[in-house]
Amino acid sequence: MAEEQVHHRKKKILAVDDDGLVRKSIGIFLKDAGYEPTVAASGPEALRFLAERHYDLVITDIRMPGMDGLQVIQAVRDYCQQMKKPSIPMIVLTAYNDEPVRLSTEKMGVREFVFKPFKLEDFVKVLERQLGPR
Ligand SMILES: [Mg+2]
Repeated sequence: MAEEQVHHRKKKILAVDDDGLVRKSIGIFLKDAGYEPTVAASGPEALRFLAERHYDLVITDIRMPGMDGLQVIQAVRDYCQQMKKPSIPMIVLTAYNDEPVRLSTEKMGVREFVFKPFKLEDFVKVLERQLGPR
């Protein structure tokens, strides 16, 4: 068996947020929690990362200039379909409890909403629900 298969592979998470402080803190938090994070400042940047490597999960902000979170979710779904890849679980990370947005994301298959500011232990539970134990 190859070395990689013997060792536990860290789950790769792509987090998209236009706020630099959120990117910094979520990157540190995910790393400390045992994941391998990549942070992107915009939807287009996230899509470039997605084309370069496999991610186990995508976390996206909703309110971002240019491409918003709903467009990111749709683009990630479209990408997986076009590439005939299994769909990537997605989590919304937002400061706003916006019902229409929530309904739209649910229609696109997103089940997890995390509100900023979040408690680390709550966020870990959401991550484990989506990715299994670390
Ligand atoms: Mg934002």
